[in-house]
Amino acid sequence: MIIVCPECGAKNRVPEDKLSANPACGQCHQALIPLAPIELNEQNFSNFIQNSDLPILIDLWADWCGPCKMMAPHFATVAKQNPQVVFAKIDTEANPRLSSAFHVRSIPTLVLMNKSNEIARISGALRATELQQWLDQQLNAQS
Ligand SMILES: [Zn+2]
Repeated sequence: MIIVCPECGAKNRVPEDKLSANPACGQCHQALIPLAPIELNEQNFSNFIQNSDLPILIDLWADWCGPCKMMAPHFATVAKQNPQVVFAKIDTEANPRLSSAFHVRSIPTLVLMNKSNEIARISGALRATELQQWLDQQLNAQS
C-alpha cells in the first residue's frame, strides 16, 4: 500500500505486513507512521488525501477553542494506539479554505477519510476511550 511521508511528502510503497514494523521513508528516512498526530495544511493536504492508502482521521481545531485543547491529549493517546490510521490535525484558523471545504460548523470536529472520501464525522470533544470506541465502530462498518 502507499503511505505518504508526513515529513517530506514522498509516496512510499509498503507491504501491508510491514506496517507494524515501524517503516521509514525511502527519501528522508523519517518514520512513515509517526505515533503522534501530523499537521495537515492547504499545501500538503491533497497529496495526503489523494495518495494515502491508510484511513486518515482529521481533527479540525483552533487555538481559541477550549474543548479542542481539552481533547488534544486524548487524540494523541489514541493516535499512539492506532498505527493503522493516520492521525492529523488541521488548524481551521490558519487554513480557512480547508475549513470551509469541510463545512465545519463547530469545533472540534473529527472527520474520518478513506481515499478522498469522507466516511464519518463527529463534533464535540471526546475522551480517549470514547474516541477509540467511535473509531472502532466506523472502521468495523467499513470492513
Ligand atoms: Zn520522507
